Parts: sequence; structure tokens; C-alpha cells
Amino acid sequence: MSATARRPPGHPPHSRPVPTDPAVDAMVAALPKVSLHCHLIGTVAPGTVAELAAKHGVPLGRGVEDLYDHDSYQDLGEFLRVLDVVGSVIRDVDDFHRVTYESLTAGGADHNVLYREIQLSPPGHPGVPYPRILEGVVAGLRDARSDTGIDARLVVGINRERSGAEAVELVQQVIEHRVDEVVGIGLDYAEVNGPPGRFVEAYRLAGRAGLDRTAHSESGPPGHVLTLLDELGCSRIDHGYHVVDDPEITSRCVAERIPFTCTPVSSDIGRYSGSGDGTHTRIRQMVDAGLCVTIDSDDPPMFGTDPTHDFRVLAHALGYRREQLAAFTANAIDACWLDGTGKADLRRRAAAMVAATPDAPPPDHSHLLEETP
Ligand SMILES: [Zn+2]
Repeated sequence: MSATARRPPGHPPHSRPVPTDPAVDAMVAALPKVSLHCHLIGTVAPGTVAELAAKHGVPLGRGVEDLYDHDSYQDLGEFLRVLDVVGSVIRDVDDFHRVTYESLTAGGADHNVLYREIQLSPPGHPGVPYPRILEGVVAGLRDARSDTGIDARLVVGINRERSGAEAVELVQQVIEHRVDEVVGIGLDYAEVNGPPGRFVEAYRLAGRAGLDRTAHSESGPPGHVLTLLDELGCSRIDHGYHVVDDPEITSRCVAERIPFTCTPVSSDIGRYSGSGDGTHTRIRQMVDAGLCVTIDSDDPPMFGTDPTHDFRVLAHALGYRREQLAAFTANAIDACWLDGTGKADLRRRAAAMVAATPDAPPPDHSHLLEETP
């Protein structure tokens, strides 16, 4: 694969501008990242969507420039409609190879992402058989690894807006077409339309087959976290910001070191992690409570972000510097589903990169000391 093929066309601008600070920008770019909360359909650059739509004769109804209108994603339904359009243009083995390769190279390795667990959504590609998805994605993953060194595994996502029986069928397919790259299952789409208790049977089936388990909880009550841990057997939670509303559940998650895969930019726009004002209040509360937090980008181009930019916004909003940001990567290595040898290798590589990264000066709060007239 040539270097030019790594550059997906049409990069959208960042969603919320942050102040330019060369020292912070150099630091966040150089730090190692481990990506545990990223959806394959959500990583497709707009130019690639346009090219695949043209290839398959699918009318997009809008131009590449405004394909991803992240300001409209406060409404989760609007976001999911765009996601469905993107999923519908990824159809053949070459398409799956291409989007996986671009996600892991331009969208991953170029940001110092060492390892990613990508969530696939087979129900998001209507009419495409699961083995065809797997063939293209696994080939893209292997090519990205041999070209850049980035490693990746796959998490198969259940659409929680569908029935529990459909979820069981999907898990059965995952088991029937088992490959080493698929290490677990997840649960996505709108939590309000699919409470976690609906998927106990599918999750238990996955657990018996030795698959690891995670699930989204972005808008549900803190009690959903207990359902995910105790009934679905999840070993980590995607988002989970509302856990801090319940001190007892928070204490348990701290004691058991349950990882929460947080996504600052997408969750700020979706208003799950705070008031949508860029303060990232809940992420700060989770870190301060001692929870195991990891940082990722969810659906990067769709929300005008990328793995470096999510680090950058926390550096600016919360004043985090090298040690705090490196701790998110260390947490993600603990939380990932590689074996002990794989984790030890990641720890060694990440530690060397952190040591080689100059820290940025602490944030300047002098303006807070100025007297107001
Ligand atoms: Zn997500």
C-alpha cells in the first residue's frame, strides 16, 4: 500500500477550536496512545465516503464538505442517520479493507496510536454477510500492521435498538466464524431504545465462548453499570459518565478497577459528559474519584476530532500535562484485551515514547489572580 493511499481525502476541521500552544501541541502529538473506543463506520473520512458512494451509485444528498455536520449531533438520532448512510456505502471486501486500513494508518499510526480495538457494526451494513466484512477488515488490519507497526483487534458491536434474539444470532455468527482478531463483543446505538437487560442471553453466550465483553452506557442511569458488570459480565464500560452520580457504584468501580473508555470531544457534543460547553466536567470528576479512565475518539471525523485532538482538548480544558495524559494510555494498556505478553510489549514501547516527550509548561492561571474592577 503506497503512502498516498494512507491519506483519506477530505479532512473535516476540528469541531471546537482550542488555543494554539506549540509546547502543548508538540507534547500531545508525540505521546503514545492506545485506542479502545473507536467505531469502524465512524472513522471513515468524508472524501472516502463520497468515493465509495460514487462507486456503488448511492446518492448522498449532500456535499463532502457538509457530510459530517457535528453541530447537529446533539440529537443522537441525527448522528445515527448519518452513520447509517456511511455504513451503507461500505459493501465489498475492498471497501472494508480500505476503511480499516485508513482508520489504522492516517487515523491511528499517524497519531502515535500503538494499538486499537475497533468496534465493527455488522448490522450497520445491511445485506452484507458477516464473513465478507471480516475478510476485508482482517486484511486491512494485517496490511496496516505490516506497513506501520500498529496492532489491532476487533470487537463486534450489537445494535441495541434491535431485539435480544437478533443479538444472539449475531453472537452465534461470531462464534461460527471465529478468527483470532475478534476478541470481544460490544453494545452500541441509543441506550434509551435498548436497555442492557435485553441482551443477557447474547452476552452469556459470548462469555461461554471466551469472548471479552464491553457495552456503551452514555445516557442511562448509574444502575445500568451494575447490569453491565453483574448480568452481562462486562470487564469494561464505554463512556459511563453517569457513574459519578452514585458514590456507592463509583467506589465499587474504583475498588475493582473497572475501565471507562471516555471520548471527550464526541461526548461533549452529545452532552453526555457535561453541559456541552467544553469543560469536560464529568471526565474530571471520574479522574478525581480515582476511576480507571481511558481516552479515545469514538467516531473521529464525524465529530471533527482525531486521537491527538482529544488529548489536546483535555490538556487545555483540564490543564493535564504529560504524566496525566500518559496515565490514560497506561490505563488503556491495562484495560485492553491482549494477553500479558502483548500488554508488556505495549508498556515498554509506551514508556520509551513518554520518556522521549518533553512536558509542556503548566497552564497559566495568572489571569485568575487579577483583580476584577
Ligand atoms: Zn461509541
